Amino acid sequence: MNYKRLLLKISGEALVGEKEYGIDHKAVMTLARRIKELYDQDFEIGIVLGGGNIFRGIQQGPALGIGRTSADQIGMLATLINGKTLQQAIKLEGVDARLMTALECPKVAESYTWEKMMRYLVKRKIVIFAGGTGHPYFTTDSCAALRASEMGADIFLKCTTRVDGIYSADPRQTKDAKKYDVMTYKQVLDEKLGILDLTAVTLCMEERIPIRVFNLLKGSFLEALEGKLGSMVKG
Ligand code: UDP
Repeated sequence: MNYKRLLLKISGEALVGEKEYGIDHKAVMTLARRIKELYDQDFEIGIVLGGGNIFRGIQQGPALGIGRTSADQIGMLATLINGKTLQQAIKLEGVDARLMTALECPKVAESYTWEKMMRYLVKRKIVIFAGGTGHPYFTTDSCAALRASEMGADIFLKCTTRVDGIYSADPRQTKDAKKYDVMTYKQVLDEKLGILDLTAVTLCMEERIPIRVFNLLKGSFLEALEGKLGSMVKG
């Protein structure tokens, strides 16, 4: 395992814990502790946290009669709520975490700039990227691929809580769905597998950033990095 700089993409669902939606304090503290354990292994860490535990534009917007742009803005605000929460939890673990946002909100988080972000990483501060890309019509997966590219990340870890890797079909719906241990970017793009956002895969393919998809509830970040969990996408 030759990884130094990591991009963790964590679904908002990781904060839900035993609740149905929103934020469960136990789930947040557990996640923060696990991130600290990873940090203690000397990695440089950037985190993109989703907002799906609070609001997903494309899912909840239409039901509310809200157009896509505004609905996605609400989704991006949800990532700020999650990001602030995780930042505080990581700080309680004794590690300095910086919250940077692409959606300007200066009283809550510092505005994202590449130069500052790189300085933080080198100083081994954990950087949490909030506000997505700052633009509607994207997801936090795409944002994560973008930040992974900007950081020069050695790997993109997509951390879910629902499935433990990449399957030929949704294993919760299709009993004989086949799990892939390793796939190429092209296979993922050709098969249009829902677990990964295709924009994110395309960017990682161009930048040659390997993607590992794994279930946070099935084991540690380190086990995922060692290849013991989930599925890998590479060239
Ligand atoms: N979002 C957006 N632009 C971005 C990133 C996110 O508009 O660059 C919005 C979008 O509505 C999305 C929501 O924020 O549904 C929450 O992000 P996502 O669904 O990716 O969260 P996750 O599923 O990872 O929890």
